[in-house]
Amino acid sequence: MYSEIEETAKRWLEADKIDSFIGYSQRSDGSVKPVRITDPADVDNLYFGDGCVHNLMSFIKLNGDERIGIFLKGCDGRTMVQLVAEGELDRERFSVLGIVCPGLEEDGKPLPKCAFCRVNTPPDYDELIHPEGVEIKDEAIEDEELSSINELTRAERFKFFRHQFDKCIRCYACRDVCPLCYCRECVTEKSSPQWVEVSIKPSSNAYWNLIRAYHLAGRCVNCGECDRVCPVGIPLRVINRKLANIVENYFEYVPGMNPELTPAMLDFREDDECLDHGREGS
Ligand code: SF4
Ligand code: SF4
Ligand code: SF4
Repeated sequence: MYSEIEETAKRWLEADKIDSFIGYSQRSDGSVKPVRITDPADVDNLYFGDGCVHNLMSFIKLNGDERIGIFLKGCDGRTMVQLVAEGELDRERFSVLGIVCPGLEEDGKPLPKCAFCRVNTPPDYDELIHPEGVEIKDEAIEDEELSSINELTRAERFKFFRHQFDKCIRCYACRDVCPLCYCRECVTEKSSPQWVEVSIKPSSNAYWNLIRAYHLAGRCVNCGECDRVCPVGIPLRVINRKLANIVENYFEYVPGMNPELTPAMLDFREDDECLDHGREGS
């Protein structure tokens, strides 16, 4: 399946276009793991299909001079574009093999993020696989999960999220897996001042989850990884999309689409009207 992945990785490695290729491989029990290949003889292990849930952009080093070939779905491709737009990644180091993603399942169930997929093709690629019959998605679709949150009153929303945050065990898996959580020193690790208490208290849990949500506002590309790895099932996707929705409405900015566009949170205009509106709405 998708022999183009093997062929492309082999061609790029043999031509010395890249030093390594990052893709997926399937274990004998059918489970999937990310792999980094440096020897063209190993490309036979490359795979794409259900279970390829990981965002491969979580496995790259932002710095360095390694020339990396990488296989990217639409959501992962948006991550790369956002990192380039934020000035954190040198696009020249990367050769991207994209795919028009057909949507994925894990354990026989569709991934929640695929139901709201806005872009199933990486916005920037060097070569593209377009499986027969898979349509290119490039428009926002009705987000029922978000609509149900929007219908709640402000007090009900607060109660809903408070209940979710109370479950947090502060394992920081959501932070560690997120390719856009790249601060050299996370706010959780600062001790002077100490923003987040070490022990698990409801107030600190809420603070951690909210500060992370704000740090990802206008940057999260809905790759769904934080949501997938959360061991207590907090629907992080909902709060991420809620903030993404607000940023899009006020700033007309959708992250991960255009590497040339200055991200909303790095931009400032004196005539921005959002401050007053923000107090009233959402
Ligand atoms: S969110 Fe879109 S691009 Fe990402 S895995 Fe699902 S269908 Fe593919
Ligand atoms: S992955 Fe879930 S439990 Fe762990 S810190 Fe993040 S929100 Fe909390
Ligand atoms: S916050 Fe979650 S969904 Fe958004 S980019 Fe990070 S891991 Fe992906």
